[in-house]
Amino acid sequence: MISMLDLQAQYQSLKPEIDKAVARCFLHQQWILGPEIKELEKQTASYLGVQHSIGASSGTDALIIALRALAIKTKGREFFDREDKIITTPFTFTATGGAIVHAGATPLFVDIDPNTFNLNPDLVAKALKTVPNVVGILPVHLYGQACDMDAILGLAKQYNVFVVEDVAQGFGATWNNKKIGSIGHMGAFSFFPSKNLGGCGDGGLIATDDDHLAELSHLLVKHGAKEKYNAIHLGYNARLDTLQAAILLAKLPVIDEWNERRRKIADKYNEAFKGLADLIIPSPLASEHVYHQYTLRVLNDKREALQQYLKEQGISSMIYYPIPLHKMKVFAEYGQVFGKLNYSEQLAEQVLSLPIEPLMNDEEVQQVIRTVHEFLHV
Ligand SMILES: *Cc1c(COP(=O)(O)O)cnc(C)c1O
Repeated sequence: MISMLDLQAQYQSLKPEIDKAVARCFLHQQWILGPEIKELEKQTASYLGVQHSIGASSGTDALIIALRALAIKTKGREFFDREDKIITTPFTFTATGGAIVHAGATPLFVDIDPNTFNLNPDLVAKALKTVPNVVGILPVHLYGQACDMDAILGLAKQYNVFVVEDVAQGFGATWNNKKIGSIGHMGAFSFFPSKNLGGCGDGGLIATDDDHLAELSHLLVKHGAKEKYNAIHLGYNARLDTLQAAILLAKLPVIDEWNERRRKIADKYNEAFKGLADLIIPSPLASEHVYHQYTLRVLNDKREALQQYLKEQGISSMIYYPIPLHKMKVFAEYGQVFGKLNYSEQLAEQVLSLPIEPLMNDEEVQQVIRTVHEFLHV
C-alpha cells in the first residue's frame, strides 16, 4: 500500500528529537505559551525572513486573525463590513473563504490560471478595476506553488489594498528567492499534521513585517488582552500549543531536506508523465515549488477510472478539491463571483494528486509511475 503520506515514517525518522522535545514539556509543565512558543516564533521568523511570527491554534485561525488585525488597523473597527470585498480563489480549501466571512468581509471569487492552479493576475486586475469596495487580496499558494506575487503586489500597490497570503500548503517555498508568506502584508501558515511542516494536532502561524499588525495578532490569539483581564479587542482563544511548538521545533531542521525530496519525486513524475495525451503535469512559475501535493490534470473524463485503478493496485490518490468554493451553499450566500469561473470548475473535475511523501523510496515512486503508465497503456 502506498499512501498519500506516512506520518509513522516521519515520526520514526525523528523519534529521538521528538521524544526529547515532548519530555522537556512534561518537565517544565508550561502548557500555555511555554518557552517553546517564543523559540518557534524566533526560528520561523528567521527562516521566513520576516520581523515577526506569531503562533496560532490552526491555519484557519491564523487566516482569521491576520484579517481581523487588518480590519482593526485599516478600518479602526473590529470587523470588516459585508460590503468590503476580499479577492480570492474559489479553487482552495474551505477555510480560505471561511476566514474572510468570519472577519466580516465578502469573498470575491476570481478565476484561476489553469497552468498554475492559482489566481489569474489579469482577472484580479479586472476585478480591482470594476468592482467597488475591494479592500484586499488573499492569494493561495495551492499545492505549495507560489502565485505570481510580483503581479499581485503590483496591483495591491496600485489599488492600495492589502495582501494576505494563504501559505498553508507552502512552508519553505519561494518566489524569486523570497520565502512565500513573507511577501504580502501578512502570511498565514498551517501546521496541520499532513502539511509539509506538520505538528501532531492543529497549529498555525502568522508572519508579518508590520509591528502594529504583529502586536494586534499577539493580542487576538489570547482574548484581545494586553493585560490578562482587560481586553482591548474581541479576541480568541487561538494560541499555538506549547507541545505542538516543541514538536515543530524538532521537525523544522529537516523541512528543507524533505521539501527537496518532494521536488526530486516530482521531477521523476514529471519526466515520466510529460507529453502523455491524457495528462497535464504541473508547470511552476519562477518559484521553488514545495509540492505539498503533486497534482495532475487528467483529461478526457479518465480521472475516476485512473483513481479506481490506482486504488486496486494499492496506491492512494486524492482530489483537492472536488467542489470550488462558489459552488458551496455557504459561499453562494456569503460570497460573490467575478465573471465566469470556468477554469476552477473544469479543474475540479480533472485534478488528481498522487502520493508525494518525502520518505517514500524510489521503488515506491517507480511503482506509482508504472501503475499510471499501465492504466494509460504507455
Ligand atoms: C490546510 C489549509 C488551511 C487551513 O489550515 P488548518 O490548519 O487546517 O486550519 C487553509 N488554507 C489552505 C489552502 C489549506 O490547505
